[in-house]
Amino acid sequence: MAAEEVNYLCIMTKKNIREFNLPELKTYFESIEEKKFRAIQVYEWLWKKNVRSFSEMTNLSLELREKLMDVFSFNVITTDITQHSLDGTLKTRFKTYDGHLMEGVLIPTEKRFTACVSSQIGCSLACKFCATGQMERIRNLSFEEIYDQVAILNEQCLLAYDKPLSNIVYMGMGEPLLNYKHVLKSIERITSTESWGMSPKRITVSTSGIAKMIKQLGDDGVRFNLALSLHAADDKKRSELMPINDTNNLSQLVEALNYFYQKTKNDITLEYILFKNINDSIEDAQRLVTLYRQIPTHLINVIEYNPVAGVPFIKPEEETTNMFTQYLANHRVNVRLRRSRGKDIDAACGQLANKS
Ligand code: SAH
Ligand code: SF4
Repeated sequence: MAAEEVNYLCIMTKKNIREFNLPELKTYFESIEEKKFRAIQVYEWLWKKNVRSFSEMTNLSLELREKLMDVFSFNVITTDITQHSLDGTLKTRFKTYDGHLMEGVLIPTEKRFTACVSSQIGCSLACKFCATGQMERIRNLSFEEIYDQVAILNEQCLLAYDKPLSNIVYMGMGEPLLNYKHVLKSIERITSTESWGMSPKRITVSTSGIAKMIKQLGDDGVRFNLALSLHAADDKKRSELMPINDTNNLSQLVEALNYFYQKTKNDITLEYILFKNINDSIEDAQRLVTLYRQIPTHLINVIEYNPVAGVPFIKPEEETTNMFTQYLANHRVNVRLRRSRGKDIDAACGQLANKS
């Protein structure tokens, strides 16, 4: 049996330490006749100091650490490869405890250090332009696998730039709203004062548009921001690019976003990748302006397409891009052109994890 399989079997029979809250840990330590404050120590190692092994919990005796190792699993991710872009972007391929690959990116700009994290291994939604969309969905990531990406990218940020992360975007591999429970729990951990205490206003979850789950976010009163990957302002074009539009069309999304905004007042951004001769004409821009007026959004991010091998899309000429964004700006749309980052390092979503 391969080492990874043995590891996987062990993990299946042990309890995951990071699923225990503080009172539960206290009960456990009492049950093994250890002092209750050990629970606080372990909890701090897990959530304040973000260690990823029992051996790093150096204020516990060796014997106790070994006992914990026997009883609990610690489903951590490890760094497989990190690519450094000339523009300062760092892209990391992570390996999960059961041997799957996924990726996270650290994007530095003048004012921000943003971590882009994955929520699933692969994706079931098969958007035509996306490298992750060419893969099957293998499984959801657990909340602690998402949390670990943030912790590792923060360590990289401190090392490379001497600054902690300032923002987090759920724009890596996978559809966050199809891994709803774990995505929300990871954000709860990141924003908890027991750990990072990051403001939810600095976190953005990007979705391809699952109307029912957008409304659920509203009902749950979340405090983070939402980005909708729109990419086309008419149903026919959008369905061709993104099959999810067949069952979650634009009118359903408009309704769901209005509901979300009414319930939460959180920021909504629209993401629009420009594809040459597909969605980059002035008529497309006109349709986009009309749709923009129906959505309580404050910004359209026009995104430069990052080419993916084997995919028949390319980005438009500079002139077309400028005409498109200028049209929006002339029609009182708050628009920002987002240049592709890490062009030299497979930085588009799913490009690195999909590479052998
Ligand atoms: N599944 C979610 C979040 C992950 S994708 C979603 O679709 O929103 C994050 C963003 O990257 C989306 O806006 C997606 O459309 C965009 N994207 C995917 N492939 C890309 C590429 N090759 N170039 C530029 N953006 C890309
Ligand atoms: Fe999945 Fe988002 Fe890629 Fe579409 S763009 S395939 S939803 S990760």
